[in-house]
Amino acid sequence: MKTNIKKLFAEAMKDQKAIFGDDLYDSVEVKIEQLESFDNATSLEELNNLICNCQKCELGKTRTKFVFGVGNPNADAMLIGEAPGADEDKQGEPFVGRAGKLLNDILIAIKFKREDVFIANTLKCRPPNNRDPHPLEMETCRPYLDKQIELIKPKVILCLGRIAASQIIGGKLALAKMRGEVFDLNGIKVMATYHPAALLRNPGWKKGCWEDVQKFRKLYDELTGK
Ligand code: SF4
Repeated sequence: MKTNIKKLFAEAMKDQKAIFGDDLYDSVEVKIEQLESFDNATSLEELNNLICNCQKCELGKTRTKFVFGVGNPNADAMLIGEAPGADEDKQGEPFVGRAGKLLNDILIAIKFKREDVFIANTLKCRPPNNRDPHPLEMETCRPYLDKQIELIKPKVILCLGRIAASQIIGGKLALAKMRGEVFDLNGIKVMATYHPAALLRNPGWKKGCWEDVQKFRKLYDELTGK
């Protein structure tokens, strides 16, 4: 995969060099090397610096801000949503706006502060008009999320919504079948519940979410001894 990407970039750079000369050719090459070396990052800050200019999929062209994620870099609990929305795209932070406020309230209800956990999305750039991410976009961006998980080393992950749950848990299960169950991701326990934006549209789902997050908190307490 890396070889193919490098080959494609190398071909593109030859064209750039022919048109714009050596200065641009060199700067493009530096950016490509940064992207390719993200897997060697040893901290979230370093990872963010290496990938924040990513243009590996089409969403890089339409985003306003790259949305890396926010929170405690050593968190035992990680929350993963789908992709930035309009507010997140403007501010460069996941889960702001009405859905973010609801998520904060949910966290407080289970005795977490937002800064206790790490919050990220499966995609770092906003799909136009909040459409569902395309499979190729998910696949292209996934290594960044995997690297975040590797660096943070959470004990538990809560997937917020169908897209994040199917990406992290895998398989073709409906969200209804994943909710309430505990899955394993390379030794990390994973649960799923509704996306806060879906709860805003469907307030009747809040009761189910409350049951899910209470189970999540219980699992967190068991695994961390807190
Ligand atoms: S969505 Fe991910 S892969 Fe696509 S441009 Fe943004 S960071 Fe890169």
